[in-house]
Amino acid sequence: MDTVSLTGKELAAAINADTKVRAAVLTASGTAPRLALIVANDDPASAWYVNSLRKAAERIGIACETVDLGADATVAAIRAELEAHSAAASTDAIMLQTPLPAGITLDDVSSSIAATKDVDGVSPLSLGLLASGLEGFVPATSEAVVELLKQHQIMLSGRNVTVVGRSNIVGKPLAQLLLAENATVTIAHSRTADLPSVTATADIVVAAAGRIGLVTGKHIREGAVVVDVGTNEAPDGKIVGDVEADSVRAKASALSPVPGGVGPVTTALLMRHVVTAAENARRA
Ligand code: NAD
Repeated sequence: MDTVSLTGKELAAAINADTKVRAAVLTASGTAPRLALIVANDDPASAWYVNSLRKAAERIGIACETVDLGADATVAAIRAELEAHSAAASTDAIMLQTPLPAGITLDDVSSSIAATKDVDGVSPLSLGLLASGLEGFVPATSEAVVELLKQHQIMLSGRNVTVVGRSNIVGKPLAQLLLAENATVTIAHSRTADLPSVTATADIVVAAAGRIGLVTGKHIREGAVVVDVGTNEAPDGKIVGDVEADSVRAKASALSPVPGGVGPVTTALLMRHVVTAAENARRA
């Protein structure tokens, strides 16, 4: 089948161009938007991602401060750092990088991020606002999936969408956003009894499980749209998604590439959120 590639680069570039102008307006009127990136790991993939966020911020005109708490940071130390940045007028936006130190989950610390600065929508308050359909920052990856589909003119209203993955940071918030677009949403996860039977009835399948090659041609119906959120390191060091591209392309009408699909849109939306947080703070 002629499968459309749901690339995210053009959309990311358009978002970035707009965000850059908004950042320049803030800078001209006093101070540049400021992002605090809190890191508590020594994971190379995380270091690579933090570096790419710093570069993206720099290109847009966002001042980025990285705080490295070390891979043995305690819950109290992480909370204290998040609370200090939540209170500081000199910080507009906070991002807490994962993974966290062994034994600590996002849920243990995310409530210490002020909702007004929670640009990746990870705190219980931000997630609750999303579930209630109220204004707040939504997780950038989930938002990126919806924006990517819209940009490629893929209708969501009334469509059956299966999201594979139920994490608080991708799967669950994505299901909420899709519901808000009037899709009929199914969430599959690691305990789903028969994954192919759940995904094969969907018009749109979103793979967000973090498992290389999990979604194959036998998981989708002819003509389905497939979005690959996975960013996994293959044994050869390359970044690959959750979708087995060859068998899926034989049946899908559209598939997002990895890299170059959801990823660049996610980063662009994060930066947009930082500038929105800064604009809100200047107005307050
Ligand atoms: P996670 O490990 O927190 O959650 C994975 C989810 O997948 C779980 O809910 C689990 O139930 C489900 N799952 C695992 N194995 C499964 C299986 N065999 N069948 C069905 N469901 C299964 O991961 P996460 O943080 O939600 O991230 C998911 C993926 O998205 C990862 O590859 C991650 O790197 C990627 N990610 C990409 C971006 C981006 O910008 N592109 C951003 C964040 C995360």
